Amino acid sequence: MAVSGLGPYDPNNIFAKILRGEIPCNRVFENEHALAFRDIAPRAPMHILVIPKGPYVSFADFSQRATDAEIVGLTRAIGHVAHTLGLEEAGYRVLSNMGQHAGQEVPHFHVHLFAGRPLGEMLP
Ligand code: IMP
Repeated sequence: MAVSGLGPYDPNNIFAKILRGEIPCNRVFENEHALAFRDIAPRAPMHILVIPKGPYVSFADFSQRATDAEIVGLTRAIGHVAHTLGLEEAGYRVLSNMGQHAGQEVPHFHVHLFAGRPLGEMLP
C-alpha cells in the first residue's frame, strides 16, 4: 500500500530498470540494500543518487515499510560514498524530495548527495 500520495509502486520506473540492469548507470557504490550512482543531469560538480534496492515509492513509504536493515544499509551507503569521495572536509548536502510539493519526479525513493561547490542556503 502506497503511503506517499504517489500511487502504488511502479516496477517500470527508471530506477527500477537501473536496479534490474535494464538501463545503465554510472555506479559509484553498492551494498546489500542500496545502490549509488551519478545523477544524469548533475546540479553540482558532485551529484549522486542513493537508492534502496527494495520497492519504495518515496521517503514516506521507505520510512514506514523498510526494515531496520534496509534503513541502515541506505544510510551507511550515503555516508560511505561521501567519505570515500572525500566530501566531508568541505561539506555536502543530503536531500530527498517527497511527493508533489517537493517536486519528486522519479517514484522510487532516492536521496540526492550534492557537493563540490558552496551550495547556498537550505532550500527553499
Ligand atoms: P527527483 O526530482 O528528486 O525525483 O530527482 C530525480 C533525479 O533523477 C533528477 O535529478 C534526474 O536528473 C535524475 N535521473 C533521472 N533519470 C536518471 C537516470 O537514468 N540516471 C541517473 N539519474 C537520473
